[in-house]
Amino acid sequence: LMGYVGFANLPNQVHRKSVRKGFQFTAMVVGESGLGKSTLINTLFNTTLYPRKEPLPPHAERPQTVSIQSISADIEESGVRLRLTVVDTPGFGDFVNNDESWKPIVEDIESRFDAYLEQETRVNRQKIVDNRVHACLYFIQPTGHSLKQIDIEFMRRLHQRVNLIPVIAKADTMTDEEIIEFKQRILADIAQHNIQIFQAPIHENEDEETLTEIEEITTKIPFAVVGSDQVVLTPDGREVRGRAYPWGVIEVDNEDHCDFVKLRQMLIRTYMEELREHTNTYLYENWRSEKLTNMGI
Ligand code: GDP
Ligand code: MG
Repeated sequence: LMGYVGFANLPNQVHRKSVRKGFQFTAMVVGESGLGKSTLINTLFNTTLYPRKEPLPPHAERPQTVSIQSISADIEESGVRLRLTVVDTPGFGDFVNNDESWKPIVEDIESRFDAYLEQETRVNRQKIVDNRVHACLYFIQPTGHSLKQIDIEFMRRLHQRVNLIPVIAKADTMTDEEIIEFKQRILADIAQHNIQIFQAPIHENEDEETLTEIEEITTKIPFAVVGSDQVVLTPDGREVRGRAYPWGVIEVDNEDHCDFVKLRQMLIRTYMEELREHTNTYLYENWRSEKLTNMGI
């Protein structure tokens, strides 16, 4: 179990293409502090990209802006190397006035587009480094209520720039019924505000197995996730990644307990190429033509 990520199981063809291209993938996590972003990233990639945080001393100064922190790791599995970059956005939603929390994040995403464009327009285009953000996991507080203004505002500002994947944080704090209702509520809010979240494209001639996988993944969105970097003992004596409660253990890797496995499958196996492709041919292209239009070219 430990050490397993899954990208070595990419379908062969996609896999070869990715290896040839250098296999870079950048994911961003956004959401209010304490929703489990850092923990989920550790869980997802089974590493400790984030050292365990010391609690802030009571009088420590808190940063006054959203900061953008980028951490990279080379992960190897079955001889395949993946350069994974995680962009964290601590500070989002933490201030008295959060009206413009989205702004530094849009700026960061666009500056990555700029860096890519700059490389594309160079004469020597041999070694293009793709630091564009391929997926943005947006963490929603497990309230059971409608989306908050800050959630809607963020998604509205970002959906034309990045593949948005909403997730319900700390899903172990809600019952199964509450989660089902909350998901419907979130999707209704998203539709009502014309927010476009990442949608798995369905190609012609897709085989039965693939269609089933697509359906299994898409019906889970927004993924109800639980993160943990602890191994705990289940009542029946198994060692699992999970969170222990007096009433039992929530297993991160058990699909009956949460959607973590489906989220990982989507990001790292089924849709890694699609996320990169959509970023390149749609999100980046649109940004580029807007930019050139604004420059009067
Ligand atoms: P961040 O501020 O969004 O990066 O959140 P952290 O990953 O630092 O987690 C904040 C606290 O929530 C820590 O005490 C974690 O152990 C806890 N936590 C993280 N993920 C979960 C989860 O899925 N469920 C529960 N109940 N707690 C979690
Ligand atoms: Mg964090």
